[in-house]
Amino acid sequence: MRPGTHPLMRRTKIVATLGPASRSPEVVLAMAEAGADVFRLNFSHGSHEDHAGSAAAVRAASVALGRPLAILGDLQGPKFRLGRFQAGKVAVRRGHRIRFDLDPTPGDETRVSVPHPEVLAALAPGDLLLVDDGKVRLTVISRNGHDVYAEVEQGDELSDRKGISIPGALIDSSPLTPKDRLDLDFALNLGVDYVALSFVQRAADMAELRKLVAGRARVLAKIEKPQALQRLPEILDLCDAVMVARGDLGVELAPEDVPAAQKSIVRAARSRGVPVIVATQMLDSMVQNATPTRAEASDVAHAVYEGADAVMLSGETAAGRHPVIAVEMMDKIIAKTEADPRWPGMMDADRVEDPAFESDPMTLAAVTAARASRAHCIVTYTGTGSSALKVARHRALPPILALTQDPAVGRRLVLVWGVEARVTDDPTDIDTMTQMAARKARELEFAPAHGRIVIVAGVPFGTPGATNLIRLARAEG
Ligand code: PEP
Repeated sequence: MRPGTHPLMRRTKIVATLGPASRSPEVVLAMAEAGADVFRLNFSHGSHEDHAGSAAAVRAASVALGRPLAILGDLQGPKFRLGRFQAGKVAVRRGHRIRFDLDPTPGDETRVSVPHPEVLAALAPGDLLLVDDGKVRLTVISRNGHDVYAEVEQGDELSDRKGISIPGALIDSSPLTPKDRLDLDFALNLGVDYVALSFVQRAADMAELRKLVAGRARVLAKIEKPQALQRLPEILDLCDAVMVARGDLGVELAPEDVPAAQKSIVRAARSRGVPVIVATQMLDSMVQNATPTRAEASDVAHAVYEGADAVMLSGETAAGRHPVIAVEMMDKIIAKTEADPRWPGMMDADRVEDPAFESDPMTLAAVTAARASRAHCIVTYTGTGSSALKVARHRALPPILALTQDPAVGRRLVLVWGVEARVTDDPTDIDTMTQMAARKARELEFAPAHGRIVIVAGVPFGTPGATNLIRLARAEG
């Protein structure tokens, strides 16, 4: 069986964002059938009622299809905005000077409020200030307390409530706004599998999220600020997954810097075995059209060639005209790319061994055994998911069938490269372990009758972290 010829044989996973175009149970089911693995609830939009409906639709689709699907709750994060203007907007041009302050009265050509003291406090002369996704660029000239004077370098209009970013400065604020805290509570009660934090600046932000989540979900860092890029290793230490959030990253970085940033994040995450999602504008023209541009198809393929765990659809599925066709298209591009004989070599070229994350000897041995015996799949018995993650880190080609007792672990593994999880009871002895693995591998068509499989497990069964057994076996006849 070649990669890409079986719906469960695709190694790179698909994350689809739900929104008004896609949150009905019928469309969610159709997207799951088309190959969506993880569904993103974007808390920047929609009501709690909308998200509850979306989550119920995902859980129903999972039951209908008999395979785990994961839900990712994406918190809006601290998005800073300008206040309002008397006329709703003001015209500006290069050289125009304006004051940003805390005065809540509507602004004019000379001043406007920035109702975030922590942002004004972080600005110093020479800093760059971006407004409206970088359409207006200003340089800070001087500061007097919370009054910041800046000069326009580029752009022609400032208007009500436009977003502000400061690429260079570290803002001393909590990574979670009061809205994020309410949304987090709601998402955890819904039972989301991953919680994503937006605008992460430093490792402490992930530590704060991790503390609030308290093990009820896995935590994901969205890398969309240069500050986070500079602190990537410490952030990766504290997260269970990471996202290359190219939309906001592309506001604070120049367009020409985004590809190298993507490469750095994917490589660093892969080297530690942290699942990584490449996100935003992957098939952007499909918001309108039923086919993508060829450049977009190449962008998806590039993420597959570099060994990302998952690629993401945002507006294409949340608000686009063709949510199901967009998933089908992503599935086709991934399948074609994974069928390219150059793909394994290209993924390997992007692999960096991090000496601090030496391979676990058992998973390394299992992967080596699978290669040497030309095994059709690697079956891992996993209590926490960690042994499946360790196997996946090698990007060995045989699919990884993760058998777990815990449905939550099964759902979390949906995001991971090459892993297909199923919930089973823990085996009682080695013979039962072998029979169960042989039957499941056959049932899912991961191996032909009597095809070679490699099993990784730990005895005594059910002991976390006790991976100490590799067995070569054959799938059921
Ligand atoms: C991004 O900025 O790329 C992103 C994924 O975040 P959001 O869609 O929340 O803006």
